[in-house]
Amino acid sequence: MSRFLAKRFNMLEAYTPGEQPSNKKYIKLNTNESPYPPPETFSDAIVNEFQKVNLYPNPDGNELIKKIAQLYKVKQENVIIGNGSDELLAFAFLAFFEDGVIFPDITYGFYPVYAKLYDIPYTEVPLLDDLTINVNDYLSVNKNIVLANPNAPTGIALKLPEIESIIKSNPGHIVIIDEAYVDFGADSAIPLTKKYENLIVMHTFSKSRSMAGARLAFAVASASVMEDMNKMKYSFNPYNVNRLTQVMGEAAIESEGIFIRNRENIISTRDYTKTRLKKLGFLMTDSMANFLFCKHPDIGGGELYQRLKKSGILVRHWSKQRIMDYVRITIGSEEQMDALIKAVEKILIEVRSNQ
Ligand code: PMP
Repeated sequence: MSRFLAKRFNMLEAYTPGEQPSNKKYIKLNTNESPYPPPETFSDAIVNEFQKVNLYPNPDGNELIKKIAQLYKVKQENVIIGNGSDELLAFAFLAFFEDGVIFPDITYGFYPVYAKLYDIPYTEVPLLDDLTINVNDYLSVNKNIVLANPNAPTGIALKLPEIESIIKSNPGHIVIIDEAYVDFGADSAIPLTKKYENLIVMHTFSKSRSMAGARLAFAVASASVMEDMNKMKYSFNPYNVNRLTQVMGEAAIESEGIFIRNRENIISTRDYTKTRLKKLGFLMTDSMANFLFCKHPDIGGGELYQRLKKSGILVRHWSKQRIMDYVRITIGSEEQMDALIKAVEKILIEVRSNQ
């Protein structure tokens, strides 16, 4: 830390992204990326656009927004695009959460970071013992709320009527539903944005649309809320989504068939991995996301993470008390999951022979 840093940031603990090592080739199952490379149409789109990188991108992203709006059956005035959902979350926290926000004690690690960055009071609401959200904790609380659905890193999803009851019972406050993983089996709350002025739904192209490296996301909300989101964007970085990413995003929307196929592959690989890990004695949450959150009675989460890393496989582990027994495993290709299971089998044999 330099002596120049503003005092209010002395205690700020920045978000720690999952490891992105470059020293060794790992099977990367730690940051919920898609195992499927982007389709050819993406590169065709950027080759043409590349000729124009001397010019700023369209700050409104109209062409892409038009396509997103058509796909999700909303109006263009209800959509904003961002440099990943992290950026859109930053705009929303800044715009709406001056008086505070609540979210689960176990959820996406960026929520408390943004709250601290912007000096927003926040409360972490404990998940139940089975790591599910208690909907009653969010009904008529008269507070701003942010919920990931499915939640991360548990993968557990709330049902749409439960989400609606939370939005409906807090009409004076903003409810963000962060749907980063919704494409892998949960129901989207986007249609509810037509009914509730206080709802913001966020989607990312990072997971189900194979674009984590291009940084693209969008949010849907009422026109008045969008006006405020745009006020933040134009006060911070009007050209937040670069030219190449905008046209890749358009190509992604146009290759809906590939998107659906990849999504179905992830879901079936998830089921396959689940069955195999359960046979090995793993316990896990009912994940609707592109990852599994699991633990094994014979080995701690930290040790499993370390031993898998030694075998060339990266998964995610947190030392937070309530979830330290668990690891989060991204669903990769079937071959990657076979390699994971083989490594886990070997580790379990080693651990048991030492007991
Ligand atoms: N929300 C949740 C729940 C996430 O897990 C992530 C990915 N780390 C994000 C938002 C951010 O995604 P991105 O910025 O890549 O769109």
